[in-house]
Parts: sequence; C-alpha cells; structure tokens
Amino acid sequence: MRTAATVATTMPPVNTPHIKGWCPGALRPMLSGDGLVVRVRPQAGRLTQAQAIGIAALSNSHGNGLLDLTSRANLQLRGVAPASHPALIQGLRDLGLVDGSPKAEARRNIVVTPFWTPGDGTLQIANALAQALAALDAPALPGKFGFAVDTGPLAVLESTSADIRIERSARGYTVSADGYANVAEVAADEAVSAAIELARWFLTQGGGRPGRSRMAALAPQALPARFQTVAARPAAPLPAQPGAVPPGWLVGAEFGQLTAATLDALARLGPLRMTPWHMLLVEGATQAPDLAGLITHPGDPLLRVVACTGAPGCLQALAATRPLARALAPHVPAGHLLHVSGCSKGCAHPRAALTLVATPAGFDLIRNGAASASPDVQALPTESIASYLLPTFHAS
Ligand code: SF4
Repeated sequence: MRTAATVATTMPPVNTPHIKGWCPGALRPMLSGDGLVVRVRPQAGRLTQAQAIGIAALSNSHGNGLLDLTSRANLQLRGVAPASHPALIQGLRDLGLVDGSPKAEARRNIVVTPFWTPGDGTLQIANALAQALAALDAPALPGKFGFAVDTGPLAVLESTSADIRIERSARGYTVSADGYANVAEVAADEAVSAAIELARWFLTQGGGRPGRSRMAALAPQALPARFQTVAARPAAPLPAQPGAVPPGWLVGAEFGQLTAATLDALARLGPLRMTPWHMLLVEGATQAPDLAGLITHPGDPLLRVVACTGAPGCLQALAATRPLARALAPHVPAGHLLHVSGCSKGCAHPRAALTLVATPAGFDLIRNGAASASPDVQALPTESIASYLLPTFHAS
C-alpha cells in the first residue's frame, strides 16, 4: 500500500492517451472497453417520444442498457456487440435517426439550444444547416468541427464547444467564428449560407490540416470582411440547473449516463430535447420526474463533480473514476467543480478545474488545470485524496 504522495515539480504527465481526433457516430461506431459506442445525433437536438422509446428498446436488445448524454448534445448507446451493429442500425433507421453516409453523419455536428420556442426560427435554421451539411458538395470538415445554433430567447451555449455559432441579435442573427472578436450580422434567411461560407473559408485557409482542426487555431488570420463588421457581445454563459424551464423540465443524469429503463420512462412524459450539460429537457413536464439515476435538485452534490467513463468501460482508463467522484462529491463545496479523469485525455471536462487524473501509480492532483496539465501532486493514494482536497477548497 502506498503511504505518501509525491509533490510534483516540473514533471510532465506520465501517461499519454491515444487521441483519435474523431467522434463516434451510428454508422462509424467506436470500440470501447464495454463494446461499441454508437452515437445518435437527433435532428435539431430533439427526440420524439416514439424515437426515445425506440432507442431505449434498442439499447436493451443490442447494447448493455446504458446510454450516455454527450457534451455535444447527443446520445450514445454503449456495450453494442459488433455482430449486433447491423440490426441496431436498421432499428435506428426505422426511427429516422440515421444519416445517408458516415461522412454526412460526421459533418452534422450541430448543437441546438434546448430553449427554443415554436416559431422562433431555431428549428428552421437547425434543419436547414443539417441539410446544407448533408449536400454532396458540403465542406469536408474535420471530425471535431462543430456548429452551435443558439437562437433561443437567450444565448446559452457560450461554454459549449463550437467552431461556428449562429446567435440571435437585436437586428436578426449573427454568425461568428470561434476565436474571433467580430461577427457578421445577417437576416434569418442568410444565416445558414453565411455559416457554410465561413466553413469553406476555414478550409481554404488550411483548416483541417494537422494542428488546425478547429477554427480557433486560425486566429488571428483575417476573416472575410463581412465577418468583421460587428463586435461580438460579451460572453455570458447561463448556468443550467435542473428544474422548471419555460418549455418543460430539465433533469440531470448522474455522470451523464442513464439506463434504458429511465430513458423509456422519461420519454413517456414528453418529447426530449438534448442539452450539452448532461441533462435532458422533458417538453411539457410540470414536475420533476421521480426516476432512478436522475438529478432533479440544483443542490445535488453530484452536480459538483464530473467523471469520464473510466475503467472498465474505457480501454484507455487507468482506474475507475465514478465511484471515486461519487464518494468525493459531498466534500466539494457549492461553487466548486471536481473533475475525476481516467487518463490525461480528460474527455469529461476539457477545461481547467480541480482535477484528479488516474495514473499507473495512483491519482495525480491538478489544482487548476485540465487533465493534461502538469500535476501539483503525484500518485495520491485513494484514501488520502479527501484530506488533500479539503485544504485546496479552503485556500481558493
Ligand atoms: S479521459 Fe476517461 S473516457 Fe477519455 S480516454 Fe481517458 S479514461 Fe477514457
């Protein structure tokens, strides 16, 4: 048994995870420790009741009955055996949830505000953008390149990863490139063509080559003139919390994962809107659903921890993550966030936080950084972690 941790000086992280550079899809699943991960990208971020009930049934018949809510507002089935994949795809196709080709699926990387209201133009823009990205001559964007359609009453996707954003403005809409301070102001019927123009510009500037797979890597290369006309408004991310919202009820899923039984039960309450916050919005619900594995109270300590799949579900994981995060959650004060990562890739939270990273020798502690940052303390024995965390919280 280890008895003491090592305080790091300038040592880099010891484990280097494999970066794949693409996200799984339905047609191009990714192998993980528990089988294939099959990602479903609901059109405009919404599942009808029949679709959600159908996915739950497919998860039980072809997967392991567990589903992830992703930070790109998608849903993925876990534990799918390769031999079951063709039948699963047929089932998803019958539900209208499969794109025409793996390329079209990969390009349809769109996060849509869950707070749209009927007639506010959001669904029209999201559907038109999806159609434009499915066209044969659509820009061949890299696997992680994505769009945000944040056109509800308030912008809520500021902290969600996106390379091109369409937002509402006082005079119509704005289209912006991640990493740039200015935006183009456009009319409703120009928003999608402007976003596609920006995507094409990204490719003509060398975007997509190694080291330039995201828009922000191009800054400060000058944007086309029309995208430099108006200053972007200051970022004002809206903290999403479980509870009542105008279109229904927001519920969180513990560590972004729910069972097929829970998905089925939620779907019977109303259509489901996806979010990038490990939450689902149940359209029309007027009270919190009382279902296992859901977070329905904004004060729930599990909202103060994030943890990736970890071992044994992920092939790259060096330890289990969620049991540790669950045990530590009551120690994390309100207003703080603890990230427990199974390796230095940091899938669950690619930004700075108080971070614990599994290594072959124990957990490294990073006081304010992403999982790939140099650790402040190395090889913490699991039983000592809580005593290290408490002074860290009091000092901040
Ligand atoms: S961060 Fe977690 S989920 Fe991502 S590769 Fe590492 S162990 Fe797997």
